[in-house]
Amino acid sequence: MRDYIKRVIIALIMALCVSLLFLGGRHSEASMKVENEVKDGWIWPADGIISDTYGTRMGKHKGIDIAGKLNTPVLAVADGQVVKSYYSNTYGNVVFIKHPSHFVTVYAHLNKRNVFEGQKVKQGTEIGKMGKTGQATGTHLHFETHQEEWRYDKKFALDPEKILGRADTGEMVRGGIAASYDDVLEASSHIKIQNEDKLKPYIVKQGDTLYSISMKRNISVKRIKELNHLSSDLIKPKQILNVN
Ligand SMILES: [Zn+2]
Repeated sequence: MRDYIKRVIIALIMALCVSLLFLGGRHSEASMKVENEVKDGWIWPADGIISDTYGTRMGKHKGIDIAGKLNTPVLAVADGQVVKSYYSNTYGNVVFIKHPSHFVTVYAHLNKRNVFEGQKVKQGTEIGKMGKTGQATGTHLHFETHQEEWRYDKKFALDPEKILGRADTGEMVRGGIAASYDDVLEASSHIKIQNEDKLKPYIVKQGDTLYSISMKRNISVKRIKELNHLSSDLIKPKQILNVN
């Protein structure tokens, strides 16, 4: 009898382990999908300045805004197929691209659309020109990323910067440049940008410390504090620091 109970207990423990594995696997499915996209190396869709990030406007802003000059080329961030290309009162001229991973990207407020529904596009294909059609106050690209199909409630929306790399409001991005994750960097043009970056003031990001900035910019914490007249180690996001 005791042997029987032992076996039942072992069987239960094993079942628990298997179900935990299964649940764990399901849980990380979303982040794995993001990692795969990162490996695919998306490129920024246009030249411009980040004028708004994801999740602002009380969480209603389900994309990022890149402000730039009228008719700046707008590029497909990765290979895919155009699933919609039309005019809407809110998005204005808008293009939807479905990627092999089932991610959908949305390019809104275009001045001009260059592609038609069903058309296959390669990464970097110019799908249109930047504009301010629809509900837009200035010339910018409103760019959205959805992990599955686009829905009216935008249930599957994801912060595009999870794939493209972090860029804060006011930062300049370059269309056609690979996302800023180290493992997808190949273009020599990026190295040039990094060097240009070195001369610019540093905009503090969430999670930065004086120490992490000192490592990134190859400057001592003491020197950063001197240059910026800081009396403590306290810094806050979006604070601009002189680090040169
Ligand atoms: Zn927007």
